[in-house]
Amino acid sequence: MKEATPAPDELLLRLRRFHSNYFPLHQQRFQDLVAQGQHPKTLFIGCSDSRLVPYLLTGAGPGELFIVRNVGALVPPYDGSHGLHGTMAAIEYAVLNLHVERVIVCGHSHCGAIRAAYEGVPEEARALQAWLKLAQEALLPVQSSPEALLRTEQRSVVLQLERLMDYPMVRREVEAGRLTLHGWHYVIEDGEIHVFDAQQAGFVPASTASNSGTGPYQPYVEYDGQAFTVPEEDLP
Ligand SMILES: [Zn+2]
Repeated sequence: MKEATPAPDELLLRLRRFHSNYFPLHQQRFQDLVAQGQHPKTLFIGCSDSRLVPYLLTGAGPGELFIVRNVGALVPPYDGSHGLHGTMAAIEYAVLNLHVERVIVCGHSHCGAIRAAYEGVPEEARALQAWLKLAQEALLPVQSSPEALLRTEQRSVVLQLERLMDYPMVRREVEAGRLTLHGWHYVIEDGEIHVFDAQQAGFVPASTASNSGTGPYQPYVEYDGQAFTVPEEDLP
């Protein structure tokens, strides 16, 4: 007697749907991207959070975003003190090989990584514990509250931009005017990105912002938790 074939699982059904429904509509685009290679203009460094959907937010399609995601959208220091790291490799590759024109660091509201930076993680999560130290400088000397978490998420984005500027190839390209840095904070519940504005040293909703990024590097990123060029109380 022949055994009944099990029903395909949900994920398999989705793969088939992509192949039969979506791919035919965009086949030419994908094939061009294979024939000509990828030439994305944007490196998107985002938190791994499932609610952050870079393609939806930016309206980007295949070939447009070079993406690296990690817990908290954090950038390891260039000095190598954080060991071998995929995020560093992605930044080098995007800038040196792909010659991207912009780098976006995108954090978001209700970020579990930022919350965990305040509240700690299970003993067993040793890598996570070490990793979250990359957000340490953004923490405020207060109890975590919704307001403090939001400010910390934004401060962390600025901190990562600053660390990016320690990457020699990033600094060189930014100073040459070939690369711009963009600090974004996505407010999930509002469906809106808030853009870091260097002049205002704060985050401005995309609906009212004058640009999507920080533009050429300004001294504003001289931020070590104390020596920010704007007064502490004006920090996001
Ligand atoms: Zn997050």
